[in-house]
Amino acid sequence: MSFDTLGLSAELLRAVSEQGYTEPTPIQRKAIPVILQGKDVMAAAQTGTGKTAGFTLPLLQLLSKKPVHNGLRPVRVLVLTPTRELAAQVGESIETYGRHLPVKSAVVFGGVKINPQIEKLRRGVDILVATPGRLLDHAGQKTVDLSQVEILVLDEADRMLDMGFIHDIRRVLALLPENHSRQNLLFSATFSNDIKQLAHRLLNHPELIEVARRNATAERINQVVHPVDKSRKRELLSHLIGSQNWRQVLVFTRTKHGANRLAQQLERDGLHAAAIHGNKSQGARTRALAGFKNGDVRVLVATDIAARGLDIDQLPHVVNYELPNVPEDYVHRIGRTGRAGNEGEAVSLVCVDEHKLLRDIEHLLKKEITSVVLDGYAPDPGIRAEPIQQGKNGRGKSQPRKQNQARRGSSSVQKPAAAQKKFNSEDRGGKSTPQKAVQKRGPRKPAGSQPKSQQHRPSQGRERASLLGGG
Ligand code: AMP
Repeated sequence: MSFDTLGLSAELLRAVSEQGYTEPTPIQRKAIPVILQGKDVMAAAQTGTGKTAGFTLPLLQLLSKKPVHNGLRPVRVLVLTPTRELAAQVGESIETYGRHLPVKSAVVFGGVKINPQIEKLRRGVDILVATPGRLLDHAGQKTVDLSQVEILVLDEADRMLDMGFIHDIRRVLALLPENHSRQNLLFSATFSNDIKQLAHRLLNHPELIEVARRNATAERINQVVHPVDKSRKRELLSHLIGSQNWRQVLVFTRTKHGANRLAQQLERDGLHAAAIHGNKSQGARTRALAGFKNGDVRVLVATDIAARGLDIDQLPHVVNYELPNVPEDYVHRIGRTGRAGNEGEAVSLVCVDEHKLLRDIEHLLKKEITSVVLDGYAPDPGIRAEPIQQGKNGRGKSQPRKQNQARRGSSSVQKPAAAQKKFNSEDRGGKSTPQKAVQKRGPRKPAGSQPKSQQHRPSQGRERASLLGGG
């Protein structure tokens, strides 16, 4: 099936073909005609499915078919996104697909100066892409008028709720025309009850569009777990990157502090690495991402929130250096690879502390992830599970970010620094070349049930620095 059959205008078809797209992705096939009919949409689509073009192309068409002629350009389309990176990417897509149309767009998010945004808004834009906090700042300063919005898009709505933006969303909704007098599009990778409630409040007789199984991971992503001791994860990661010659790797840590430390340690291992998280300035985040995209930065170490929405063409490798606390985040993380039909590999380095998190993820995926113990990195069966220290990122669904934090940008929940249990990275001698041995996980035995000879002896003294340090 080609794009021609979807009812898109010649200008849009031209822009699409200039991108080298030959056929629409499943979400585009389903969403474009429905949105063109003016219907509300509730779409279950992960990032990487082509969903951005799925809503951007038809809304560009709807706008250009109904131009406003009085000279003023009120905001007619509002796209809300959870993070600055996603806002920037959606903005780029609008520019790209709308390049042959007389449509003006702007992107506003926090962490950068507000004045250039005010200036752009003052000159008039048809489509505004925004993160909720900065949008409300503009509304508060009366530098944006949302009273004429015809189409509202909530992109990655699940993440917006996870990040505690529900109150901001409500405040934004109060600035828009009544919901039955505008078209509402809601995109979400996962559908929790909270999302369903939001959808119920927001959408009028929506068309339901689902392209991937709910909470399913993209089929093209090859997922593997490497069991390894926590203290040896960094060594194993460097080894994998070097020995497999991975050129572009996105690595997830649970905490911002952990991301910084890991990036520094990888640099010391001779791998060009950068960290990206909510405590970094927008400039540093943009530079790190640009370096990663152009190949200068080989390893980008990210926290969940900072990485949300990153769209890197043909990203081949994602590593879960630490498993996420929230199983849905695993789906989001590995969705960074295997995008738009490309193959991808998602590797998780899992220590004994994380077995419960792994079980939760497998429960969500409804499948067991293949586990491969790498030769030379087999976990010490004597090491007992320790509670996972929550860093400043530590966050569960029941702990949305406080509003004032959420408003400041995309940093994570700040919790009092927990007393850190320090672990020793024990020197286990020479590095052997890992040889793969597929290990089927049976029911996991408690550490204490290991044979006596393999049990951990406290005197082995493994207390030292941990990469899990949650600063
Ligand atoms: P998204 O899910 O919107 O973040 O898009 C993921 C990636 O797919 C982006 O890099 C797009 O440029 C790309 N893409 C979108 N539509 C198509 C298409 N029809 N064919 C090939 N690639 C596409």
